[in-house]
Amino acid sequence: MSSLQNDAFPDPAKGEPFLLTPGPLTTALSVKEAMLRDWGSWDGDFRAMSKSVCDQLLGLAGDPDDAYVCVPMQGSGSYCVEAMLGTFVPRDGKVLVLANGAYGLRAAETMRYLGRAYTLIDKGDYMPPRGAEVAEALAADPAITHVIVCHCETSSGILNPVAEISEATYAAGRKLLIDSMSAFGAIDLDVTQIRYEAMVSSANKCIEGVPGFGFAIARKAELEGCKGNSHSLVLDLYAQWTNFVKSGQWRYTPPTHVVAAFLEALRLHAIEGGVAGRGARYTKNRDVMVAGMRALGFETLLKDRWLSPIIVTFFCPADPKFVFTEFYERMKDKGFIIYPGKLTVVDSFRVGCIGWMDAAIMARVVKAAAEALAEMGVASAAPPAAALAERAKLAA
Ligand SMILES: *Cc1c(COP(=O)(O)O)cnc(C)c1O
Repeated sequence: MSSLQNDAFPDPAKGEPFLLTPGPLTTALSVKEAMLRDWGSWDGDFRAMSKSVCDQLLGLAGDPDDAYVCVPMQGSGSYCVEAMLGTFVPRDGKVLVLANGAYGLRAAETMRYLGRAYTLIDKGDYMPPRGAEVAEALAADPAITHVIVCHCETSSGILNPVAEISEATYAAGRKLLIDSMSAFGAIDLDVTQIRYEAMVSSANKCIEGVPGFGFAIARKAELEGCKGNSHSLVLDLYAQWTNFVKSGQWRYTPPTHVVAAFLEALRLHAIEGGVAGRGARYTKNRDVMVAGMRALGFETLLKDRWLSPIIVTFFCPADPKFVFTEFYERMKDKGFIIYPGKLTVVDSFRVGCIGWMDAAIMARVVKAAAEALAEMGVASAAPPAAALAERAKLAA
């Protein structure tokens, strides 16, 4: 039985496809409906809504001692990554950026814009950064003050080993920042389990809100020392936080409708059983979709151990009749928007498992893929040998 109300699903027959993308994603009807009234940003009702958002997010991070604070920030997720780096890294600090995909590289690019020191471990398209190499890099460079890692690197869908990276970071006396954009809310990032100074996520990923703001969850004692670090007026998390403490308000115009929608998304998240319930649905979505796609002959880029329940990368079939753009259009005609791949070595595409969708929808995705292949005359979805050779590089 589905945990979701089917009548609230989009209806592709009426022109609204499912978004099998890692945000913006398909949202519940009630989330969209929550945007049908206006709120005064200075008003007590909206201030209470903002406070409720922060309190609930802290609850998801598991903060038993009130040692953490939540600071919302206008903009998309990348604004929050930039705000986190600018606020938490002192101007004379140095960051070890761990990259295994586009989002890790974006963090490095952000450091370059900030004009602050950083060093990069670039593992390529998908190899996971491991605790041992972080320990080695930190031992070799005493100037490094912070490490940043993506929790789920959404480019490949790999779930990075943040627990061992946290251990290596703090064993070396440094501080960890986490981009948990596409994982928070579905995969545990409990402050009592994994140590970090701050992490960021956004409204339109696993909490299933609409885009418009993100948030940082930060150790209060650390944030208290961050005054004056930020390079940017609007992206200063310290200033945003002190303003919330003082007045309960965002500093500049908040996305009021998005906040209202997010509160409804949080309500649905709680009904589903919080992080565990949400993670369980996404895991089932993934399992049904991956099993079905494998039965058609498709192969995943990652071995099961590294597969996240967030988004899955598949190799494009070797059959010359397979043309991704045509596959994409056919999938869209059947009601499903999929996502091009981001691998540099072999052709790939991605299918997201997050959003207001359940296993029955994922079974329809597989059926649509089978039909699209048949229409294109693709006999086998098996990938080229080069793809499998690429995958063989991935450690067990
Ligand atoms: C979505 C995402 C971001 C932010 O991307 P925006 O397009 O700015 O919302 C950052 N990091 C990761 C890992 C993401 O999945």
